[in-house]
Formats: sequence, C-alpha cells, structure tokens
Amino acid sequence: MKDFKVNGIVLRAAPFKESSAVLTLLTAERGKIAVVAQGVRKVKKSGLFAQPFSYSEFVLSQSKGLPVCRSADLKETFYGLREDMDRLAIGQYLLEISLLVGEDVTDGSDFLKLLLNSLYLLSRKESGISPAVVKTVYELKFAALSGYGVDPEICTDCGKTAEYWSFEEGFLCGNCATEKFAVIHPVSSAVKKALTHILSTDGKGSYSFKMSEKAFGDLSTLSEKYLEAKTETRFRALEFISKMGSNE
Ligand SMILES: [Zn+2]
Repeated sequence: MKDFKVNGIVLRAAPFKESSAVLTLLTAERGKIAVVAQGVRKVKKSGLFAQPFSYSEFVLSQSKGLPVCRSADLKETFYGLREDMDRLAIGQYLLEISLLVGEDVTDGSDFLKLLLNSLYLLSRKESGISPAVVKTVYELKFAALSGYGVDPEICTDCGKTAEYWSFEEGFLCGNCATEKFAVIHPVSSAVKKALTHILSTDGKGSYSFKMSEKAFGDLSTLSEKYLEAKTETRFRALEFISKMGSNE
C-alpha cells in the first residue's frame, strides 16, 4: 500500500456499504478521482470533510480498487452557501458542471482554481459579485478549459469579423451564419467586450466587468446554452435555478 496526498473538493458523495461513502473529488494533483471514505455516514461532525463543497488536503492510500481516505485536513466548507437558496443552487450547478472534467485530465489545478475562486465569491455576499455573474464566468471559463474556447471577434469558419453567435458553432460572420442554417443570434459589441475580458483575465479580476442589464442577459443566455450544446448535457441543477427565478 502506498500513501499519497491530494488537495481536492468533494463534488459528489454517494452512500457506500453500511456507513461509508464514495466521494468524487476534483483534485489539483490528479484531476477528477473517486475515493472511499470509511464510516463517514456514522459520525456527522467528523464526516464534514466528506460533504459536497468541502475542500481538504487528503491523505489517500492506494491498494486494490479505489483509493481509501486515511485522513482529511478540512480547509474550507463554503458555509455561506447554506444561508442563501439561490447561491446554494448555483453552487450545486457549478459542482454538476465540474463532474464533466474528463478522465484524461491528470492535472486538475486550473479547473480546481476556477471552482474554488467561484465558490469563494458565491459564498460571500460581501464580495459584491452577483451569483449570476459567477455562474456566467464559470460557464465560459470551464468551456475554455475543456477545449471549447471562443474568440468573440473572429468567425470560427472563415476568420472574418464575427457578427453572430450560434450555440452549436460559436461565433460566425454574416455569410457563414446564413449558409449554416443554424439558429443564430446577433452579438453586440458589449457582449464581445465582456467575453474578451472574462476569457483573457485570470483569477478574481475576471468576475469584475460592467455592462447593461440587457447585454448581461444576452451574455448569460449565450454562455449557458453554449456550455449545454458543447457538453451535450442537460444540467439538473439548472432546472432548479430557472424555477426559482420564475418565482421572483
Ligand atoms: Zn465566416
């Protein structure tokens, strides 16, 4: 048996045997991995590290089958999310998206940094960043890290100036857009500018940008539908978010 350390956040916890759980972790060192946490469903308090959103340094032991958790040094629980239903729902959506990190990703540090930064801002109202902005930035940056990056200025097909957006194709010029018969949307310069800022800025600065409510509405529809189309996924948490929105 060999012990090794990872820094990771729990994306999902599934019951396993009588009192244990299988945790899906997003780690800096090994990307997305599944590990067994023994006995965590018996003792609520000491099992806090095994809850979704908990971020810890884990010591894991590899034998046959899944690695087993030997110890966990809990660093952050993003507790603030539990105090606001909207923020919690978006947090759950970010975890659901993160479950799509590919098995081939062996260095998860960029994905992990993006998730930790986003949850940090989401769990602290005093950050002044709205949950909707965190959601949009996460969608766009996650898509880019997964190989679905976009250049909002240039037509994906021919390299001319982009004027339209298609959920499936990305940005297109007028000619290519009409040839493709895809459902297309005109894209404003405000949306292009914000997109460029988000994709070219690292860390917390990428969540700070100003635009009108209307333009932000376009940007957030675009980022949500684009991620959905590229990953071919209907996110369960998203249905819950839109239901909540319509109750307001
Ligand atoms: Zn074109």
